[in-house]
Amino acid sequence: MASELLHASKLEAGYGRVQVLWGASLVVREHESVVLLGANGAGKTTLLKTLMGLIDPWRGDIHFLGQDITRLRTDRRVRAGLAYMSETGCFPGLSVQDNMRIGGQFTPAAELRRRMDELYATFPAIATRRRALASSLSGGQRKMLGIAKALAGSPRLLVMDEPSAGLSPLFVKEVIHILGRFRSQRLSLLVAEQNVRFLELADRVYTLEGGRIGFEGTVAAMHENDALRRAYFGLK
Ligand code: ATP
Repeated sequence: MASELLHASKLEAGYGRVQVLWGASLVVREHESVVLLGANGAGKTTLLKTLMGLIDPWRGDIHFLGQDITRLRTDRRVRAGLAYMSETGCFPGLSVQDNMRIGGQFTPAAELRRRMDELYATFPAIATRRRALASSLSGGQRKMLGIAKALAGSPRLLVMDEPSAGLSPLFVKEVIHILGRFRSQRLSLLVAEQNVRFLELADRVYTLEGGRIGFEGTVAAMHENDALRRAYFGLK
């Protein structure tokens, strides 16, 4: 079995006195693509932000590449190989090029130039708009920029919060297609989503319900479970 990249154990976290995560644990292995499926308000963003160090957990721990990162600053997690794409994905007030530079800010200059050339070749729609403000891009292009920005630092694991948010079904399909290409290049992915279409990317799925992990397993195993089939696929 592939080695573990990320191992979060029994995380509890919240806002003020309101607890949102109730002992959530998850693992992402090397070259694995994991989807964290949950409805609005289930705690997906809270869990991802906790993994990234944007929220301090009350209890539990997080290991990345065998190192305890539970109390590590976010920028140190990024240097260690974790990249995060928020729902917004990029900075609208900055140019495409500057967004990419921020994504790769910890990468040596020559390597970053090479990496950006590669990414522009993969995302031709943003390559032609390098000097344009991200705010002038279409919703779909902005999402592509968000992915390219997150990948500019050549992360070991890309953590994404609802890449489908605000996108039309056509662009959702395009985002899934592009992530599928990176997946086949064996990039490790952790994608939080409520859109079950993203399950086509999943080697493994976790469901998050009320801040607790409900199910963990393959998409096939999810289909075999009547309650999950009804809850997530609307099938009898
Ligand atoms: P969504 O798809 O709507 O983003 P989610 O699964 O990502 O949902 P979270 O954003 O993690 O869920 O929110 C989980 C719970 O925490 C919700 O009840 C939400 O209202 C609450 N919450 C989120 N952010 C804050 C905050 N800054 N202060 C207080 N409560 C918050």
